[in-house]
Amino acid sequence: MSKGFLLVLSGPSGSGKGTVSEALMKRAKDIVFSTSITTRAPRPNEVDGENYFFISEERFEEMVANDELLEHAFVHTNYYGTPKEFVFEQIKKGEIVLLEIDVQGALQIKERYKEAVFVFLIPPTMDELRNRIIKRGTESEKDIETRFANAFKELDFVDEYDYFVVNDVVEKAVEDIEAIIVAERLRVKRHENIKENVTEKR
Ligand code: 5GP
Repeated sequence: MSKGFLLVLSGPSGSGKGTVSEALMKRAKDIVFSTSITTRAPRPNEVDGENYFFISEERFEEMVANDELLEHAFVHTNYYGTPKEFVFEQIKKGEIVLLEIDVQGALQIKERYKEAVFVFLIPPTMDELRNRIIKRGTESEKDIETRFANAFKELDFVDEYDYFVVNDVVEKAVEDIEAIIVAERLRVKRHENIKENVTEKR
């Protein structure tokens, strides 16, 4: 069995990270999703503890102060963060832990966890990205503009990632990520005693 690792998925708002990671989670058995905390208000279809842990700013500050977060960032107009304990528990069990986080968070992870794998999801075009944000219909006009402006800035960070995946057709994007996972699992550094295991089986 290969060692567990962090799979960091980023991409601008509207790149379809949520849809892609949901589809990925349905297909892949040994991937667990890291549920983030946020100070943002839940959207009508969102469930506390499932999409996010929705918390107050006071609680967020407390978690930062107690060093309970692997990374955290202020994104658009709210705070987001990754609870540390869950991630470490799962990695210890050999699981792949999917983190759907923004570029600021990804850069923090990159500094601290060299073994993590970084995937950047990009939309086929910026026009398509704008349409997706508008179509989602959950953001105010001002929020749409903030997210669209941030999307341009986020694209500058693609060079910091190991892989990029174009999300034109969701199934294809998921297949691409699965291919990345297969390759990453086969990295020699993610295994121990390769030679011994082969020799024993002879
Ligand atoms: P949304 O409000 O649309 O759910 O998410 C807004 C942005 O915050 C997205 O880019 C999403 O990936 C990012 N995000 C969600 N959770 C986290 C987290 O735990 N840490 C960081 N740094 N970003 C997050």
